[in-house]
Amino acid sequence: MSKPAVYPDLAVYLDLTDSTRTQKNYIIFDCQGDILNKQTEALTEETLDPEEWASMRTLGHRILDDAIDYLETLRDRPVWQHAPQHVKAHFEGSPPLDPEPAGDVYQEYVRYILPHQFGNTHPRFWGWVAGCGTVMGMFAELLAASTDAISGAFSYISNNYVELQVLDWCKELLGYPPTASGLLTSGCSASNLIGLTVARNTMAGFDVRGRGMQNAPQQMTIYCSDEAHSSIQKAVELLGFGNDSLRRIPVNESMQVDLTSLKAAIKNDRENGLLPICIVGCAGTTSTAAIDDLNALADICAEERCWFHVDGACGAWTAIAPKYKHLVSGMERADSLAFDLHKWMYLQYPIGCILVRNADDHRRAFSLTPTYLAHGEGERGLTGVDVPWLADYGFELSRGFHALKAWMTIKEHGTAKYGRLIQQNIDQAHYLARLVEAAPELELALPVSLNIVNFRYIRPGLDDARLDGLNKQIETELQEQGIAVASTVSLRGRNYLHVGIANHRSRWEDFDFLVREVIRIGAELV
Ligand SMILES: *Cc1c(COP(=O)(O)O)cnc(C)c1O
Repeated sequence: MSKPAVYPDLAVYLDLTDSTRTQKNYIIFDCQGDILNKQTEALTEETLDPEEWASMRTLGHRILDDAIDYLETLRDRPVWQHAPQHVKAHFEGSPPLDPEPAGDVYQEYVRYILPHQFGNTHPRFWGWVAGCGTVMGMFAELLAASTDAISGAFSYISNNYVELQVLDWCKELLGYPPTASGLLTSGCSASNLIGLTVARNTMAGFDVRGRGMQNAPQQMTIYCSDEAHSSIQKAVELLGFGNDSLRRIPVNESMQVDLTSLKAAIKNDRENGLLPICIVGCAGTTSTAAIDDLNALADICAEERCWFHVDGACGAWTAIAPKYKHLVSGMERADSLAFDLHKWMYLQYPIGCILVRNADDHRRAFSLTPTYLAHGEGERGLTGVDVPWLADYGFELSRGFHALKAWMTIKEHGTAKYGRLIQQNIDQAHYLARLVEAAPELELALPVSLNIVNFRYIRPGLDDARLDGLNKQIETELQEQGIAVASTVSLRGRNYLHVGIANHRSRWEDFDFLVREVIRIGAELV
């Protein structure tokens, strides 16, 4: 036995010539290629599948029953439970070398993990802007996991048809043309990054992919309102524009981008030799759910030859609420539209989406086919081409089967009900605003534009600094007492409780309860 020539540094050679297949022989070479040692071990085989399927099946049934019980009885539990120190301490230490019984591992989950999560499935979770999941969505995630489904490439597989149909549904529901392209993503941060990549590569006027941003003939600028989400800045930084190229335009009293300032900023940049390439419109900001004047932004983009990107993380779905869809009019004119299905649409995290009006622009920004992924028209098998490979429309190759939970849940309930639910959340925001207006102890920050209500507890004689601290304490007490989760935001220099409603489980009475409890806690704290 001599050392194989192909791998000059190979130090271990596995010899399996033993025809009985009962043992394996490791032959260890030194650097000169001389045999140093031979070791023989039993030829065993292992797998991560259960040794005993029957008991694993029983555990599986138990887990599913527990999960359904949990969802059925959500209302009876605190919204959120502070994870105590011993829970944090439980998650320290090295990885386990030896196996533990599957049932014990599950019990640890039940004891230490389950009770101390974020709480966003609960009917009174309204912090920030978060969705709350669906039962069918949970089943779909289990099914997708059961086949360890990979989405993104390959042909003649059903996953792709499901994702393409979900994308077609999104286009139809949001007023986009069927010729547009799209991709399901892990969330709106990824969607914004993809949308702005297409914007940059299409509008830069040179070969960004080949030559890189360091060879840009002109500095490019991008515009959004002061209230735009941090993921826009992250995308701008990741794409090599630099945060200095992001022009944050002041907002009007309705928290919408001020159009006069926007036009002036574009004019000023042009006069200084810069290249304005993109305006980002907000369809529902995170702090106040403000919706920019999207038709006006589309007009300005047309005049200024800028790409029109809309961040509609939550608010895009206003388009299916019968009474409120006019609020996002103009959104359908965007060159790219980023949104989530895990906020409104209520699907399990993670699932977001990006749509791009011009599919060629989209594909040009991402398409890349190494030999190991070569695929060809007319070929049969997994590497043929029956539909576009979605890996050509984003930066990820392998993605989970996010589409399945959307497809199954939307089919289960129908889009009409979804429209009513989104309308219900907006109606609930208006209802809460009326309750706040009717309570002398409370003050509304600004009129409700969509599904977010910002208000604060007030008390004559307390200045803004005291009220800021007091409302922050009320937020904490609401959370710690398990009553509700609201967050706080600072608007025009004052702290307000922030109730963002993207929750199909909330009822009218939950908002009555919230108002009563805020007033009670406020009075106790003063
Ligand atoms: C939540 C949010 C995002 C980011 O979305 P993720 O799904 O959390 O990545 C972007 N924009 C707005 C307006 C948002 O509210």
